[in-house]
Amino acid sequence: MTLKDRDKKHLWHPLTQHKLHPDTIAITKAKGCVLTDEDGHTYIDAIASWYTSMYGHCNDHITNRVSAQMQCLDQVVFSGFTHEPAIKLSEELIKILPENQNKIFFSDNGSTSVEIGIKMALQYHVNKGEKRNTLIAFEGGFHGDTFGAMSVSGLSVYNGPFEDFFLDVKRIPTPNGNNHKDILRLLKSIIEQNDVAGFVYEPLVQGAAAMSMHDANGLNLILEFCKAHHIVTVADEVMTGFGKTGKHFASLYMETKPDIICLSKALTGGLLPMAITSCTQDIYDAFYSDDISKGLFHGHTYSANPLACTAALAGIELLQSDTIQNNIKNIIKSHHAFGDRIKKHPKVKSIRQTGVIFALDLNIEMSRYGNLRDQLYNFFMSRGVFLRPLGNTIYIQAPYIITPHELDKVYQVIVDALNTL
Ligand SMILES: *Cc1c(COP(=O)(O)O)cnc(C)c1O
Repeated sequence: MTLKDRDKKHLWHPLTQHKLHPDTIAITKAKGCVLTDEDGHTYIDAIASWYTSMYGHCNDHITNRVSAQMQCLDQVVFSGFTHEPAIKLSEELIKILPENQNKIFFSDNGSTSVEIGIKMALQYHVNKGEKRNTLIAFEGGFHGDTFGAMSVSGLSVYNGPFEDFFLDVKRIPTPNGNNHKDILRLLKSIIEQNDVAGFVYEPLVQGAAAMSMHDANGLNLILEFCKAHHIVTVADEVMTGFGKTGKHFASLYMETKPDIICLSKALTGGLLPMAITSCTQDIYDAFYSDDISKGLFHGHTYSANPLACTAALAGIELLQSDTIQNNIKNIIKSHHAFGDRIKKHPKVKSIRQTGVIFALDLNIEMSRYGNLRDQLYNFFMSRGVFLRPLGNTIYIQAPYIITPHELDKVYQVIVDALNTL
């Protein structure tokens, strides 16, 4: 029996309606940008496995460091104990995060990093003797699948059934360069009617909203407004972190920095699951007290796993290397040239790009997980390229180590798809 057939017996996959999509592809190997399946077919991983494996799959620098760490310390409780990989990671991250960040809190995945950011924002006000129960979020955002994270996400098939159990959230439009006055007016009316604790947002690019991109100046004005009204700002950089936007973090494009930053995905270069919620000294100080109940009583069993910390450290070294920084510049240039080449194509409605994140909208309307979208996905896979269109949006977020030849192949299958549609 093939792996694909054995899979059907006991497995339940994420984000999958199994009745409509009974088939999976069994991957047996991944190296660099290439995935290999059980039949020997290869696929260029043009979305870096949900933007995690940005230094390439099974990267030798990362795997060697983690294997060495495995011989020495695998896992230990992180309450009451500490260890070098976590300490070193905190030191290295603080050097590259926006300058106001000073404390690092560990968890296991993007959703929990956001959940912690929300809890920090809510308890920050409680600890200061103020009850603030409302959160602000962007329309159409995606922050994960736990309840707090679902609450601040835009409504979709992901979170619809749970709407009645959500936190109190007011949603605002993203800034598009022309609407910031309206947004600020809306924010004013929200804070007049509600006690707002925090603002949770994906800076510059909303990943699951089909790589929707917004205006840095407008976002900066929103952040300034929040600062002025003591609304804790929580930047969800789970997708945008670690070089995707051209800078190490998207928040570095705005003058006003967030109070809290959520990180995961490329944090460990795709090797192990881990997440971090960083914050300013001011946030931390609100929890620092003789009163035990003012502490942040949140913890996950695998917090700061030494192997995951080691993978993250190796990833940060790669991110800062000349090779990766040059690759990032070259990919950005290459995407610009590709955008120029196809933007006039009759099947292309619009193109957009932030850093190495490139997206195009097709002129054809299609539902997010409908038939046409599936046809497009199958078209790419049958030609050896793994792209996951979101409705009528095709986006590329390839590993930084993708070769010009591999990238050209990704572009070519997209052009072929446009010409075939
Ligand atoms: C993927 C993602 C999450 C959720 O992360 P998980 O690790 O899947 O829980 C949260 N926020 C953003 C912006 C994401 O892209």
